[in-house]
Amino acid sequence: MREPNGTPRIGVYVCHCGTNIASTVDVAAVRDAAESLPGVVLSRDYKYMCSDPGQELIKHDIAEFGLERVVVASCSPCLHEETFRGAVGEGGINPYFFQMVNIREHDSWVHRDIAAATAKANDLIRAAVRRVRFHEPLEPRRVPIDPRVMVVGGGIAGIHAALTLANAGKQVYLVEREPSIGGHMAMFDKTFPTLDCAACILTPKMTQVRAHPNIQIMTMSEVEEVSGFVGDYRVRVKHHPRFVIEDACVGCLECIDACVFRNGKTPDEFNLGLSKRKPIYIPFPQAVPQVVVIDPEACIEFRAGCRKKTCVEVCAERNAIDFQQEVTYDEVTVGAIILATGFQAFEASRLPQYGYGRLDAVYTALEVERLVNASGPTEGSIVLRDGSTPTSIGIIHCIGSRDKNTNEYCSRVCCMYSLKLAHLLKEKTDAEIYEFYIDMRTPGKGFEEFYNRVEEEGVHFIRGKVADVYPEAGNTGRVVLQAEDTLAGMVRKIPVDMVVLATGLEPQPDAEDVRRTFNITCGSGGFFTERHPKLAPVSTFTDGVFLAGACQGPKDIPDTVAQAGAAAAEALALIDAGHIELEPNTAFVVEERCSGCRTCVGMCPFSAISIVDGKAVINEVLCKGCGTCVAACPSGAIRQNLFEDEEIFEEILGVLTHV
Ligand SMILES: Cc1cc2nc3c(=O)[nH]c(=O)nc-3n(C[C@H](O)[C@H](O)[C@H](O)COP(=O)(O)OP(=O)(O)OC[C@H]3O[C@@H](n4cnc5c(N)ncnc54)[C@H](O)[C@@H]3O)c2cc1C
Repeated sequence: MREPNGTPRIGVYVCHCGTNIASTVDVAAVRDAAESLPGVVLSRDYKYMCSDPGQELIKHDIAEFGLERVVVASCSPCLHEETFRGAVGEGGINPYFFQMVNIREHDSWVHRDIAAATAKANDLIRAAVRRVRFHEPLEPRRVPIDPRVMVVGGGIAGIHAALTLANAGKQVYLVEREPSIGGHMAMFDKTFPTLDCAACILTPKMTQVRAHPNIQIMTMSEVEEVSGFVGDYRVRVKHHPRFVIEDACVGCLECIDACVFRNGKTPDEFNLGLSKRKPIYIPFPQAVPQVVVIDPEACIEFRAGCRKKTCVEVCAERNAIDFQQEVTYDEVTVGAIILATGFQAFEASRLPQYGYGRLDAVYTALEVERLVNASGPTEGSIVLRDGSTPTSIGIIHCIGSRDKNTNEYCSRVCCMYSLKLAHLLKEKTDAEIYEFYIDMRTPGKGFEEFYNRVEEEGVHFIRGKVADVYPEAGNTGRVVLQAEDTLAGMVRKIPVDMVVLATGLEPQPDAEDVRRTFNITCGSGGFFTERHPKLAPVSTFTDGVFLAGACQGPKDIPDTVAQAGAAAAEALALIDAGHIELEPNTAFVVEERCSGCRTCVGMCPFSAISIVDGKAVINEVLCKGCGTCVAACPSGAIRQNLFEDEEIFEEILGVLTHV
């Protein structure tokens, strides 16, 4: 085994972390034990090593005592490795002549016995002291960063992130798979708790996006492939045909009137099938871009051929209709990506006991959002499928949320949007409204006040989960909600004209594909996972890919907008640095030993290895230093900075050998 050049002079620093470490680990004893280790010329303990005075102590000692290596025993490297490397570098030696020992998360926080925790701290420090002798000087590498950003998903999260970046002077590609941006918010009439008109806040932002010189909107588009790395992502975008030339269409909508179909026959997606649309249509009046779209499934031109082609006729001057359009692709390069792909509502028919799809009186909350909306299928009137106006309405909370059979998590917005819908339905119909809830969750600014307001308006609140929804006897068209009222301690059977199911929020159906395309992770509920819930809530484990909005987990509009702003700020900070500093703890190939067997290529989870001229080559920018290839290489041709054999073996020996 290689010996270090001479015996470096090592300084050891033991942190109390207030009482976090010092209450379980005898720090004075640990300090004294470290002093006697070979190579250690100085050992100190200090209340907060991460504080400015703590760091100054290290810098001072490097100069005063000629330290050549530093070991700090404190918290997790995730929190302060950078801090101490910085201090070591400023002290005048290579920042990588440093090793951190975690005696908090790995020791004091998980043990009660002071003697045992102290012995463990000694073992860990001994291991670090032995390994740090072998550390080689390393330099972080810099790569330039492309200043453009891609935002995927044009809901309120994507819109806000795109505008924030564009206003800061960055070029943004906004990719939306639907014919218009807007997402779910575009479907709402009012938003809780302030009841402000959703369109009045959203549409100005949508218009700004369309008009912004720094934003290129790509609707009916999806990301098909992402290659490259942070600062230099190559993104292949697939554009589905609209059969209308975007630049030529002025949104006059005359083609829709002219279509040979007098009335629409196709369920209107935006109204969730509560109305019909023509084969040529605009998704909703405020759609951006204000460009019509042709549905090839419904348009007869694509089947038998349309003899009249009246849409083409009325558009003769602009010539915007193009039945020949095909799928096209674009490849763009960006430095960072923000994912804002949102959520899908829980599919209510998965719980047959609530009768959705079977009983006409049962609606989902999103359908009711469209019913109460002035631009919805009934122009804001609450007219049921049978043409009547309800005089009694039951709203059932937690459909597909807080239930071990569907989703265990709380969808966070359903209590509040149910209160909103109760208010709006009461206002429009003066019906008796019954809300069946498990727990009323209103923890937001103005939320509890809104709940009190709705209660004062005469809405009845029943604490209990509805077990069954069934038709009332006698063919009345009404349905009965059966629930156990847990406050009154009795079973209730309440007949109503209309049922609203407060469906929860779920990940998009293609979240797993998107996850794979962008090389990020999903949590147990299927939503995208942030790098750290507290310290990196909008970052992912893939550098340069950020999260915004409900794709990361259920959230309301204020939280979505706040998170989108944070994601944009993170992307800006990354880009404005002009370059990225890369950790040098990457793997490298010893060319003479490589047989080109390709074992490493398939093992690398970051696609960082390729074979060039029969030898493995590691892309340092993509390599995350996980060590998989090092362990897998049958000829021992791959090594890794900071994880050389000597360093690892010495560390193991240090833990095991009580010298
Ligand atoms: C019934 C109901 C009522 C609600 N009422 C309120 C309310 O009153 N107040 C409030 O604060 N919150 C309310 N919410 C919550 C609100 O809907 C969300 O906070 C908000 O929509 C989240 O915005 P988003 O942009 O993250 O996601 P979304 O609105 O879901 O937008 C995501 C966008 O990304 C697009 N997309 C998805 N996948 C891809 C892909 N692979 N490629 C390209 N584009 C893609 C989608 O087409 C969509 O346009 C309500 C929710 C529901 C279900």
